[in-house]
Amino acid sequence: MMDREDEEKIVEYYKKTLREDAKEGKTLADAYRHIKNHKTQGYTTRLFLVDWEGYFNENKCPVCGKTITLKETQYLCEKCGYTMDADLYERARKQYEEKKVKQEKAAEKERQLHKQGYTQKKLDELYEKAVKETVKEEEDESR
Ligand SMILES: [Zn+2]
Repeated sequence: MMDREDEEKIVEYYKKTLREDAKEGKTLADAYRHIKNHKTQGYTTRLFLVDWEGYFNENKCPVCGKTITLKETQYLCEKCGYTMDADLYERARKQYEEKKVKQEKAAEKERQLHKQGYTQKKLDELYEKAVKETVKEEEDESR
């Protein structure tokens, strides 16, 4: 039988992933903002979801769903005119792929913790604790 990891270790693990997420999501956030600005031009700003899987793997336009094509240094949708700089697109695609791998690893880690007897409720509590400690540490650092 596997040794049960102690709770402090799990909190430390969550804190580490929180800090990594904050650093690594930046390019994807830039791409999201770019699409959002384009999509909401002339409309009221509201939340929407980007189909990243379709966007990066099937080259679907995030605005209208038609196929986007690479024209010189830009990805272009000929139907609605949406464009994204190829450099930002490629960096965001790479970050998206890395994020998917990380999410799979995180899911595997939680499956292990469940096997060790931790309930989802308990893990949620430890995650909450990690969020609170991370926020507090960041406040202390910026002081
Ligand atoms: Zn389009």
